[in-house]
Amino acid sequence: MGALNQTMRLHVIFPGVESTVTASPARCPYRGCQGKQFRFRQTVLKPLRDMVFDQVRAARYQCLTCHRTFRVYPIGVRRAHVSQRVEGLASILYLSGLSSREVSLVLEQVGVHLARSWVCDTGRAVQRNLRVKRQKVFEGLEMSANGPEAMRVKYHGAWARLQVTLNPPKELVLTVDVTSERDMQSLRQWLEPLARAVQANLLVGDANR
Ligand SMILES: [Zn+2]
Repeated sequence: MGALNQTMRLHVIFPGVESTVTASPARCPYRGCQGKQFRFRQTVLKPLRDMVFDQVRAARYQCLTCHRTFRVYPIGVRRAHVSQRVEGLASILYLSGLSSREVSLVLEQVGVHLARSWVCDTGRAVQRNLRVKRQKVFEGLEMSANGPEAMRVKYHGAWARLQVTLNPPKELVLTVDVTSERDMQSLRQWLEPLARAVQANLLVGDANR
């Protein structure tokens, strides 16, 4: 059974992204308005940085109580020009110690091109919200010519496989391989609050999942 060297995998599963709005608004977003009835005005194309969609369709509604208009975004999209899962992935890697350059490189591997300054700003915003300090949990990144499924990060002094995969139909998963129960526990402890902050789920699996 070789329990000593058994590879375990920690998966961070990010929330999905939809390309269209699937639910109508429940209440008016403006402060002080209790409006619950709306008129659909138009569909608005929104450019997006994401590994699947380069644009999504937002919907513009008018509140029948206060007559102001507002936009409703698809699941996984907000006013920002970057999808929530890209933000989540970038924040987790940045707060775990990778440099903004390294985070940009990982994102590039999955087809998302974002400036280093954006990585810093986004990571710092999550850091402020969470009141968590950025830590050198990962002490370096090694890229591979074989794509996003064969990168490595230095973790507790050893190189661990790091993968970013897009599972069908469109689930984004960050996976770190660890080889001891102790490493798994500490990595899990570190990632749990970060994952919660970006609405991602942690899943511990064996080498097959
Ligand atoms: Zn209103």
